Amino acid sequence: MWEKGAANSIIIKELEEAGDRDCRFCDGKVISSMCTKPLDIAETAHSMFIEANLGNAGLYPGTLELERQVINGISSLLNAGNIAGGIVSGGTEANITALWIARNITGNKKVIFPKSAHFSFHKACDILALEPVMVDLNENFTIDIEQVERNIDDDLCAIVGIAGTTELGAVDDIESLAKILPENAFLHVDAAFGGFVLPFLREMGINVPRFDFSIPEVCTMTSDPHKMGMSTIPSGALLVRDREWVRRIHKEAPYLDLIGQLSALSGTRSSAAVAATYAAMRSLGKEGYMKLVRECMDVTAHALNRGRKIGLEPVMEPLMNILCLYVPQPREVQEKLAQEGWRVSVAQNPESLRLVMMPHVTRDSIDGLFDAMERIL
Ligand code: PLP
Repeated sequence: MWEKGAANSIIIKELEEAGDRDCRFCDGKVISSMCTKPLDIAETAHSMFIEANLGNAGLYPGTLELERQVINGISSLLNAGNIAGGIVSGGTEANITALWIARNITGNKKVIFPKSAHFSFHKACDILALEPVMVDLNENFTIDIEQVERNIDDDLCAIVGIAGTTELGAVDDIESLAKILPENAFLHVDAAFGGFVLPFLREMGINVPRFDFSIPEVCTMTSDPHKMGMSTIPSGALLVRDREWVRRIHKEAPYLDLIGQLSALSGTRSSAAVAATYAAMRSLGKEGYMKLVRECMDVTAHALNRGRKIGLEPVMEPLMNILCLYVPQPREVQEKLAQEGWRVSVAQNPESLRLVMMPHVTRDSIDGLFDAMERIL
């Protein structure tokens, strides 16, 4: 710890120096992130609510009302009625909390999820002492339903399906998972990335598999405003079909003024993120998100074309704004691109170069990236 405090000007300079070493979304060269630059109005809202703490919700009825409106808005996008939910720190916390609820209600241990699932499910199983059962993918890179069925037994806690996988943006066959779900087990859908993309693709007339609460067996869902929702970090949404289920993870805290509060893993909870999510959703509306998703898909199609022009084939035709391309030695290509300032990632299943076309990635960025690739390959 520093012995004495420093002047603000010194602190700002130090912060600027640190920030200058970081990547910035605004230069369009980060093509590996599932986050993006939040809307300006979301940043403003964030700083307006910087001191409020929804972990002590009784003090913040105004913020609680914003959260209610945000959850109602996200629920309606996901075809849910009046369900429970709240804003947590991100997809990881939402996924852990969903399995926490499922475990406490079923009393069972086994969680079946696809190999494409985000690593937060391994964290959840570790923390909650659950037994992970990882299932292979079929030729469409979605969960193998027959293998899921073979693994169902009396100890089943939950089946997890992914609506927008982290690596490929694939959507599992949630309807088929629903059909084989035993009565006392949970079906959780991780739409951390897909939640703010798939509903708009569907409205654009694209054939998106059903994945949301219109399937009666879907119990809980994750959808992250800090990804394609254009909100600030940390904003993840957890939606829970039945309010009573949330009570099963509730803990008493008599010293706090908790009326109306979400039972969550976090104690202190960011109200700034709630306000930012409200501001992003209020500013864009369905129309604005649709435009954004359309633009991201246009840039994705452009990337696919540029790839094909140099003989690079996609792992699958992109359904969402993620494109994985087969390239020889993807790790080496990734490193060489990084030397020129381009940040892309490498997918494992199958090994390929992974590009995420978030709103800060433009056609021009894609042209710059592929010009660099042509030099490197
Ligand atoms: N689920 C999916 C499908 C994801 O892609 C991610 C992150 O990329 C997560 C969950 C975890 O989200 P977070 O990083 O906000 O905890």
